[in-house]
Amino acid sequence: MAETRRAKLIILGSGPAGLSAAIYAARAGLAPIVIQGVEPGGQLTTTTDVENYPGFAEIIQGPWLMEQMQKQAEHCGAELHWDSITSVDLSERPFRLTSDGGKEYLGDALVIATGAQARWLGIDSETLLRGKGVSACATCDGFFFRGKKVAVIGGGNTAVEEALYLTNHSDDVTLIHRRDALRAEKILQDRLFAHPNIHVLWNKTVDKFVGEGDPEGLVAIDLKDTQDGTISRIEAEGGFVAIGHDPATGIFRDWLTLDADGYIEVEPGTTRTGVPGIFACGDVMDKIYRQAVTAAGTGCMAALDAEKFLAEHGLAE
Ligand code: NDP
Repeated sequence: MAETRRAKLIILGSGPAGLSAAIYAARAGLAPIVIQGVEPGGQLTTTTDVENYPGFAEIIQGPWLMEQMQKQAEHCGAELHWDSITSVDLSERPFRLTSDGGKEYLGDALVIATGAQARWLGIDSETLLRGKGVSACATCDGFFFRGKKVAVIGGGNTAVEEALYLTNHSDDVTLIHRRDALRAEKILQDRLFAHPNIHVLWNKTVDKFVGEGDPEGLVAIDLKDTQDGTISRIEAEGGFVAIGHDPATGIFRDWLTLDADGYIEVEPGTTRTGVPGIFACGDVMDKIYRQAVTAAGTGCMAALDAEKFLAEHGLAE
């Protein structure tokens, strides 16, 4: 028979949100089980330099930061499981989660911190130059391109905000969009068009990110015109792909309210979902800030919200 584990609190996901929730919940005596998912540590494990996580005067490495958070959660008393949940039954408490190996987890409360994945263009040169000039987060990596020519790909709010953000570091920012109109809100578009250091290239897709040097780094981007197919080249040492994110919410679709983009909806100012006892934190419920430090902050909130819920229902002891 498949093994069943029961806990007062189950936390799904092991990025900064899930592990911060685990640290707080463990210190509150809830002995949480953390199910780490397919990519333990989350998006930061695929990042290199991290310079904006408070508390570290020197640049640290993303995988190292996540390893520290994992150890800290374990030291506090959280139980980390390298497992992946493929189906859930959230119709009643305890909530029932089933892993890909058929193992069952029962939780009186649940914190969902399954995160989101940046969408990539899916071309070979992008994979090759990721972390070497090609990035999916200007707020994280823009600083490394001070005084350099940079480009942003996309036409939504994220792309426009990233282009505007990059003007803090660069006076030559190009926005590359595949159509002749942006999807971003008008107020952002107005700011973008008014900025003297940003120019927009319309009807262009990325044909190739061009690398050079040893170690290799991005030096240019080849663009294909969507109208006449011609190829042109722009110089850029930073290329920021900002074509959207996919929150990992597929298994919750039948149980929780998701917004039009698939993010879990929470009561404003809290981490409470529409189902009592289920809380969401980090990138799975935040499509605006998406930072390790904001994810950690909402992870802390989720643990406090869960603790209060369990206490109110006589389930905390
Ligand atoms: P969006 O889905 O809104 O925009 C994605 C953009 O990328 C679109 O312009 C799209 O082009 C383009 N794109 C998609 N795939 C490709 C591709 N393969 N090649 C080239 N271009 C491509 O994503 P965002 O991340 O911008 O925003 C997601 C959600 O988060 C939205 O609801 C947004 O409003 C919200 N958000 C809000 C913010 C705020 O309020 N401050 C900040 C950031 C996000 P096309 O237009 O042709 O489809």
